[in-house]
Amino acid sequence: MCNHASTIAPAPLTRADALAAWAAFLPRVRQYATGRNHVQPGHGQVSRLSAALRHRLITEDEVIRDTQDHHSFAAAEKWLQEVCWRRYWKGWIEMRPQVWRIWRRRVRELRATLPPEVLKNADAVASGESGVACMDLLARELIETGYLHNHARMWWASFWIHAEGLPWELGADFFFRHLLDADPASNTLSWRWVAGLQTPGKTYLVRLSNLEKYAHAGLLSDRRGSERIADGAVTPTLQKDHADTSRRPLSDIPSTFHPSSGRTGLWLHADDLAPEIGPLADLAPAAVAAFTSEQTYRDQYCLSEKRVQALRTVLADGIARASAYYQCPTTLTDADDTAAGIAGWAHSQQLIEVVAFAPAVGPVGDLVPRLSMLLAESGIQLTFIRRASDAHVFQLAGSGFFSFWEKLSRSLRL
Ligand SMILES: Cc1cc2nc3c(=O)[nH]c(=O)nc-3n(C[C@H](O)[C@H](O)[C@H](O)COP(=O)(O)OP(=O)(O)OC[C@H]3O[C@@H](n4cnc5c(N)ncnc54)[C@H](O)[C@@H]3O)c2cc1C
Repeated sequence: MCNHASTIAPAPLTRADALAAWAAFLPRVRQYATGRNHVQPGHGQVSRLSAALRHRLITEDEVIRDTQDHHSFAAAEKWLQEVCWRRYWKGWIEMRPQVWRIWRRRVRELRATLPPEVLKNADAVASGESGVACMDLLARELIETGYLHNHARMWWASFWIHAEGLPWELGADFFFRHLLDADPASNTLSWRWVAGLQTPGKTYLVRLSNLEKYAHAGLLSDRRGSERIADGAVTPTLQKDHADTSRRPLSDIPSTFHPSSGRTGLWLHADDLAPEIGPLADLAPAAVAAFTSEQTYRDQYCLSEKRVQALRTVLADGIARASAYYQCPTTLTDADDTAAGIAGWAHSQQLIEVVAFAPAVGPVGDLVPRLSMLLAESGIQLTFIRRASDAHVFQLAGSGFFSFWEKLSRSLRL
């Protein structure tokens, strides 16, 4: 059996590594449209920037600007489109945060109520023991490396839902626990898309001939079980949509920060770790803090150790840069209760205001109600700032991607 996982370089998890990876990939953007669907050992056809972009060690704005500086729109359109898919999903879910919350609730409910034999099968498929050798290699690759190529994610998600007949919510949870780029928007909504819930009438079905065209030879060298994904063998499994997808207006969050006269602290979190770029660059914080919550990651989300470590690494990188940039006391603390940790830090630093990038829908966003309450109790103001480009892009993400892209690409063509 080929051990493809061992040939994969780790994804960049610091800003310096992300900038170096991006500089190396930038000239290859021109070949992206033709190479991106091919799943090759080492994944040289794609950028591997997803974890760095997800945590904003490097921003989409920087990537888009560099792309425009080096390539024509026509040569880079496919690349720009993919970079903007992430923002589209983020904007879409920002207007429908209940989709994330209902998914989390369904994961708990399914784990508590599904018959033991179904859960046993789900666990076997997720451990790489489905009996379909190529799918099992992909499951193991994800566990070992924290990464899967986009096409492989589509194949595997489709296999889980439509060949194994398992609930999409549990498959999405498996990805969320292991992917180092795990993103509440991209992951939840991509799984919904494969399941046929996100774009009604559109279901993604895995086909062996598609793997034969796009997968490297090693993935198909062991053909055991491949008849189960032969062309036409996989048919759509109907999935009930438990989520209410009705849209609510985007919250009104300012894009510029007006400093107050007292001590302001910056809370850095995993949704945006580039404070030195953009609206918080001129901040003069009295202190900067970031928090991990490793016990919660393990107990509440069952994250893999690789993912817990990756979260620590990206936050530590954000804090190290903030320390050098702002020249003020910084801290990275592991707190069982993050909201209480932030409130305690704000109190100990005698802050009158805590400022942060607007948390996205997901684990960071879920902290906000309690954090707001705790800070309000101490008379400390909590201020969120949304990057102007996010505010612009998100409000275009109300309906389908192609109308979003049609509107957004007008400004990118200039
Ligand atoms: C079932 C499923 C689950 C997914 N879960 C996640 C997830 O949790 N986190 C995540 O970041 N991506 C997710 N994706 C999207 C996509 O697979 C990854 O972003 C991409 O594979 C990351 O590798 P890369 O950086 O080399 O991508 P490249 O091909 O180099 O693309 C460059 C960047 O564009 C963005 N991008 C590319 N394709 C997509 C896409 N289809 N959707 C959204 N953004 C995209 C990413 O930011 C990526 O880093 C998922 C896709 C599927 C089908």
